[in-house]
Amino acid sequence: MQRIEHIYINGEYVVPHGQEWFDLHNPSTEEVIGQVRLGDAVDAQHAIAAAKAAFPAWSRTTRDERIGALQRMHRAVAAREEELLEAILLEYGSPAVRGRWMATYPADVIAQAIDALQTFEFEEQVGMARVILTPVGVTGLITPWNSNAGFICNKLATALAAGCTAVIKPSEMSALQTQVVLKALHEAQLPPGVFNIVNGRGDVVGEEIAHHPDVAKISFTGSSAVGQHLVRTGADTMKRVTLELGGKSPTVVLDDADFQAVMPLVLQAGFLNSGQACVAGTRILVPRSRLAEFEGVAKEAVAQIRSGDPRNADTDIGPMVSQKQWERVQRYIRIGQDEGARLLAGGEGRPQGLHAGWFVKPTIFTDAHNGMRIARDEIFGPVLTIIPYEDDADALSIANDTDYGLSALVLGKSRERCVNIARQIDSGRVLINTLAHEPRAPFGGFKHSGLGREMGKWGMSAFLEPKTLLTAVLSD
Ligand code: NAD
Repeated sequence: MQRIEHIYINGEYVVPHGQEWFDLHNPSTEEVIGQVRLGDAVDAQHAIAAAKAAFPAWSRTTRDERIGALQRMHRAVAAREEELLEAILLEYGSPAVRGRWMATYPADVIAQAIDALQTFEFEEQVGMARVILTPVGVTGLITPWNSNAGFICNKLATALAAGCTAVIKPSEMSALQTQVVLKALHEAQLPPGVFNIVNGRGDVVGEEIAHHPDVAKISFTGSSAVGQHLVRTGADTMKRVTLELGGKSPTVVLDDADFQAVMPLVLQAGFLNSGQACVAGTRILVPRSRLAEFEGVAKEAVAQIRSGDPRNADTDIGPMVSQKQWERVQRYIRIGQDEGARLLAGGEGRPQGLHAGWFVKPTIFTDAHNGMRIARDEIFGPVLTIIPYEDDADALSIANDTDYGLSALVLGKSRERCVNIARQIDSGRVLINTLAHEPRAPFGGFKHSGLGREMGKWGMSAFLEPKTLLTAVLSD
């Protein structure tokens, strides 16, 4: 049983002013495995003051000094990969293969920020003007539970690379992961106040960050509802905001696709991160003329997907992160049936043989239409919805008929036809016959999936404010 008492302000571990203790659970057993003491608004104010005091010196550091600091961060985070993996398995229940990726990603993403910083153009001549990109100031970095360590490292490394200082409000449900990252960041010996971490509730610490006049920018990853709230709250102090929000991503299976060949991609995209992924491909658009054939192949393939103990090497889907999340997913499985969709696989309740833990059966609905709630709402669990379409135009119209626009997958034999479809999908990212990731490309969403972009030079630019200098030409 771990007790995490300290938060981190101005280069020191401090006992928070906040008094509340929050239980941490192992979602595979439902047991309480630890407690974290939560900070409050006063703690957030102290952290913001420390970041404000550190900003003038940090914003004037050279590119080489920042690269040096980020390299120390990278080494320290990479050295704690095994500890991070253990925290991810215990506290989040990610299946081992995904868990390993989540444990390596935080160091990788710092390396990618170094890469972006190395070649970034902070100044440019535009006609008579010198345009200088200057750091925005103190930033508030708010992360969700579904990849907490990775989001902390990505947001912080990019903010620091741009010359900003930071107050981090990690997910209160991921305190074990935060603690491992914090130990590494402390070892990296960054100047005091350059980053601060306050564990706490969103409606307490998050709210204080969102209202505070000394915070210039919020970078948030989480639900669309909280993202919209942050835009409204931030307007009073004109905060810059970058939002990475939810999704209801389409997987468009074209009528020339080889179903046996593409099915592994369809299911990996849909069940990614136990279905708790913003980019999960949860709406599967299938040509009506081949629907029965697709259902047969999908049914056979999903029977091979194992939901269970994340430490077993053959587990594909781990538990939902919390009881609340488990109940939400169960509710949507009931809603789907009430709406008249047909269960092709899975359903309510735990998978056979599992009597504890927040496990869900890998579930696929078929014969659905795009107006159903299971096709419109982000469920955030391993629940997929097959929607039949008539022709390519119909597939495109269904793909784009959504509030979201984060990611999409197009599967088919003809590259040209796939690219043509991909160009017409309203989404921040469209993958064609692959689930590959390019960290130098921008990542973010259209519509309710977000505002702005992270990663690469686009991610850096989001922490910078352009300033135009014009000089009079003086004659002697
Ligand atoms: P959430 O919105 O409930 O919480 C995210 C963070 O915001 C947490 O740290 C929470 O404490 C904080 N928060 C809550 N209320 C707040 C408030 N009033 N003011 C300030 N902060 C507040 O999301 P979650 O349940 O932790 O994560 C799941 C969601 O995140 C899903 O919708 C998912 O799609 C999304 N997500 C998006 C991406 C992306 O890159 N687009 C990646 C991962 C997750």
